[in-house]
Amino acid sequence: MNDVLWFNGRFTTTDERVLRVEDRGFLFGDAVYEVFKFIDKHPIFLRDHSLRLSNGLKSIEIRNPWDEQTFIATMTQLLERTAFDAGIVYIEVSRGEGERAHVFPDDMTPTGVAFSRRFNFPDAAKHERGIRLISTDDLRWKHCDVKSVNLLANALAKKHAQRKGGDEVLLIDCNIVRECGSSSFFIVKSGVVITHPLDCHILPGVTRDRVIALADRVEERLIDVRELDDADEIFITSTTLGVMPVNQIDDRAKRTRGPITAELQQRLKEAEVERRTPSSAHAAKPRDIR
Ligand code: PLP
Repeated sequence: MNDVLWFNGRFTTTDERVLRVEDRGFLFGDAVYEVFKFIDKHPIFLRDHSLRLSNGLKSIEIRNPWDEQTFIATMTQLLERTAFDAGIVYIEVSRGEGERAHVFPDDMTPTGVAFSRRFNFPDAAKHERGIRLISTDDLRWKHCDVKSVNLLANALAKKHAQRKGGDEVLLIDCNIVRECGSSSFFIVKSGVVITHPLDCHILPGVTRDRVIALADRVEERLIDVRELDDADEIFITSTTLGVMPVNQIDDRAKRTRGPITAELQQRLKEAEVERRTPSSAHAAKPRDIR
């Protein structure tokens, strides 16, 4: 589609491939978008759209490539270059590109794009006829069981933990301990390894599954936040961390690695060696991708 495109301060067309694969908009959904319509080349409610975009960016700490004046100037130029009189302008600003890691540096350079598109606005007949709705559950975004790239919430939560001096974030939902920003969560109580049951609130971790298979006694049930103080041991799991002991949560008492955690670390290591496929011996040096 040979439409006019504004990309990071210059005009081109949507035929040009401008985005890099390591852009956080692509990898994490770490971006904000806006759409306004224009009729006879006139943008409609442009200041309102500018304000919403600016508020959204501020709220997730992405630098706004525009102030209100430059935003209006850019959109005016985009419409001048557009070959049609009516349509929409789609705008997206991501946190920018960088090494793939949930926790982002504070000084990223945002990626900004804006392009115009023709659009079939409803005509008078459709506005009279109306449209039909179909209802469904509001699942926005409650499908944590899908390893989706909608990771903005995870990235922000992990950033919060980093700022507070943590290595990982523990996600608590109405006093229920779900899991971590990019790892599964376990406690051990009286010899029983306890973790959240598989449902839409957690990712079905591959390591979680392995550890459950390797543990002697397991209970999959909801963990109340009050159980954290009394737990004998606490650990988290992921592909990159393996079984990782938790030595403190917030300002609670410090802990040391417990015997069941140590045993599961050993069992997981052994299982990884057993399962190693011949090709893995030649695999590239792994990077910290979770
Ligand atoms: N939970 C979340 C939210 C994750 O993102 C991950 C890994 O990315 C995990 C748990 C651990 O899953 P796995 O053991 O498959 O790496």
